[in-house]
Amino acid sequence: MSETVGWCRDCARFVAAERVPSLAHVEEMLESIRAGPEAYKRKITSLYGELSEPDWVIEKELFIWGWQLKRWESVRVWRLMRRSGSRCLHCFSTDIELLPVNAMKIVHPISGQRLYVVTVSHLSMNAGPEYTVEGLPLEGADARNP
Ligand SMILES: [Zn+2]
Repeated sequence: MSETVGWCRDCARFVAAERVPSLAHVEEMLESIRAGPEAYKRKITSLYGELSEPDWVIEKELFIWGWQLKRWESVRVWRLMRRSGSRCLHCFSTDIELLPVNAMKIVHPISGQRLYVVTVSHLSMNAGPEYTVEGLPLEGADARNP
């Protein structure tokens, strides 16, 4: 599951949220992967902007190992089963509006103030919470505090 930021109308605040891709997007990703590493690079560059050389080295290694193909084939299997839209990862509502990919500036839905979007991320090797196909936490799992 790809994580992003969205405005949850039930929480009335910006929250961590799922980004459920369209099946067409998943198919496009698979098509570019099957066409080879340069086609894949063009695809991700068209979506997310230019990659730094170190980022491409990592992406290319993952590509050569077949990880990207396995990942997107798994995403396709899941996406064919998934019915609900993206969910707020706090309250699990689907009444959420995701920030556009690569958003730099947005308008706060209540105050109308302009906000600048700063994205940071980290890699964690810890197992995260587990969810159903529909994005709901598995029974007994504490999705908010893994
Ligand atoms: Zn929420």
